[in-house]
Amino acid sequence: MKRFFRRLLRGLIPALTLFLCSCGQEVQELQSVDIAMGTVIQQTIYVTGKGAQTENILHLIQQLEEETLSWRLETAEIFQVNQYAGSGKWLELSEKLSRILEQCQKLTEDTDGAFDVALGPVARLWDIDGWAGGQRTGMFQVPEVQALEQAVAQCGFERLNLQFLPGEKCAIVSLEEGAAMDLGAVGKGLALDEIFSYLKTETNVKGAVVSVGGSVLTYGEKPDGTAWRVGIANPHDPSVNLGVLTLTGQWYISTSGDYERYMEFDGVRYHHIMDPATGYPADSGLSSVTVLADNGLLSDGLSTACFVLGREKGMLLAQQYGAEALFVEKDGGIFTTPGMDALFQTMD
Ligand code: FAD
Ligand code: MG
Repeated sequence: MKRFFRRLLRGLIPALTLFLCSCGQEVQELQSVDIAMGTVIQQTIYVTGKGAQTENILHLIQQLEEETLSWRLETAEIFQVNQYAGSGKWLELSEKLSRILEQCQKLTEDTDGAFDVALGPVARLWDIDGWAGGQRTGMFQVPEVQALEQAVAQCGFERLNLQFLPGEKCAIVSLEEGAAMDLGAVGKGLALDEIFSYLKTETNVKGAVVSVGGSVLTYGEKPDGTAWRVGIANPHDPSVNLGVLTLTGQWYISTSGDYERYMEFDGVRYHHIMDPATGYPADSGLSSVTVLADNGLLSDGLSTACFVLGREKGMLLAQQYGAEALFVEKDGGIFTTPGMDALFQTMD
């Protein structure tokens, strides 16, 4: 009986692991698994003494969703701006959203519109939010061609008029009739950017690895001085890893794949990364793209953009941004930017 309770308690109390780091200090490992932004948040943080907590990081992610990014929660700035589409009104944005949209606009221009945060009309028509990992199959319908054409015509960053007045940090914005923003392609990366800003102010944090639905931030170092190892899922069988990235210090890693969120209808798989030119799931010959960049908005935004553009154009785009990328083609071919070679090992 005693053994039973000991086992039960072991399951309930999070493991408290202590390490001695090279500087001689005692380092504690904090771990947590939670849900936010409709996805799983996994944290491992190495701390000395009191200070940073995994709860604080979870709160940051929830706050970013509730105050800024959500296109579904009434409290969020994106939701509120979307409500004024077609009203002719100019709205002043927060400094945070102004900076985010400015960078998204540049990425849209650099990808000739393959990346488009004003893709809301198409994303809502497909009901991507309702798919949740490809589990709901019963009611799924492929949108009618005419409805899709109409939605495509309502997308495009140019339908979102963004202006910075001279000397002002906050932009003003006016959305045309039917336009809507959807920051699903960069939201997890933006969460990583917020987490980094928090971690660097907490001097007791020696290292951390945080995954927001598979977009990962590595920060600082492990107490034993070994490298971070980040598994990359095999898009053709996501239950196993295709390989591992071996990384030291700070990196942002994001993957976009046709296996992450999809629906099947009449034997055809419809995934959630759309080609803004057609309104249909991008068909660029790729199954997944993983991007390493020096900030989260870019790793997340570039992985989506590279998936839409395909290997050749995607490779050039990653290099233009000084990012590293790994492309997995539908036929299983693996292609990497030169710098990625040194970081990625396939599983044998
Ligand atoms: P990525 O490739 O990074 O992005 C794909 C997503 O970006 C698509 O889902 C679509 O929204 C958008 N997109 C598709 N094509 C393009 C394109 N060409 N250009 C630009 N954008 C494109 N999921 C839930 O199930 N429930 C929730 O409540 C929920 N809330 C969320 C709240 C926030 C703030 C965020 C950021 C995400 C939330 N999600 C939720 C998940 C979301 O719906 C997407 O599925 C997820 O962000 C996709 O991430 P990814 O890394 O798999 O794909
Ligand atoms: Mg993305």
